[in-house]
Amino acid sequence: HLAVNDIHAKYGKLEVLHGIDFDVDRGEVVSLVGPSGSGKSTVLRALVGLTPVTSGSIEVDGTRIDYSAPRAVRAARDRMAIVFQQYNLFQNMNVLRNVTLAPTKVKGRNRKEVEAEGMELLKLVGMDHKAKAFPDELSGGQQQRVAIARALALRPEILLLDEVTSALDPELVNEVLDAIRRLASEGMTMLIVSHEMSFVREVSSKVVFMDNGQVVEAGDPSAIFDGPKSDRARDFFGKVL
Ligand code: ATP
Ligand code: MG
Repeated sequence: HLAVNDIHAKYGKLEVLHGIDFDVDRGEVVSLVGPSGSGKSTVLRALVGLTPVTSGSIEVDGTRIDYSAPRAVRAARDRMAIVFQQYNLFQNMNVLRNVTLAPTKVKGRNRKEVEAEGMELLKLVGMDHKAKAFPDELSGGQQQRVAIARALALRPEILLLDEVTSALDPELVNEVLDAIRRLASEGMTMLIVSHEMSFVREVSSKVVFMDNGQVVEAGDPSAIFDGPKSDRARDFFGKVL
């Protein structure tokens, strides 16, 4: 269980998150939606300690993460793996090695065991047939699916996905969304930022609508999409749906 309690965050002097609250239960898929610049990526960055939180708290299973302690931040990153829009695979390593590198080198786990697990993860995202290929031999959608498998190799409790399809050509978007759908059906807990509204509606257990560094409304997808209560959400969905 992840609890985000009244978090504020700044870039320099500019406060961009003005008190964000939401929860993610185990097995839930929660999506953050809202206009560009509303603070969605900043929320994900705050969770993994990339942007400092100036007040409020983030709790995992009831324990507050102390972002001032490097150890605690590392522990938080073990529990919450993040995938960005730009898949940054290691270009000099094949697909399987990309997936197994951190668990073997950082976690010191047994290579054979990690490789077997890595192949399972590649299968889950439909990339096991390219295990020996190098990143520059793959399409963008294929690379992004490998990036997701790589994040999962760390066995996170929550997967954070920040617009993982935004940099892709339209015909490649669906293969990545399919991989995420499969993860959802396997019960993976996820916090997703996406502009793919029909996908968000279908896959999410809860949708959090943000604007200008605040949560304007949150609820189940049908409530948010079909009957937004706020003018800001109505206006946003009027433009994007
Ligand atoms: P998008 O949908 O365009 O990705 P977003 O909802 O993810 O937008 P954020 O990237 O979280 O929005 O940005 C929130 C606010 O913080 C914006 O006003 C943005 O200009 C500002 N901001 C983001 N990153 C930085 C940075 N590195 N330095 C200064 N300001 C930043
Ligand atoms: Mg963003």
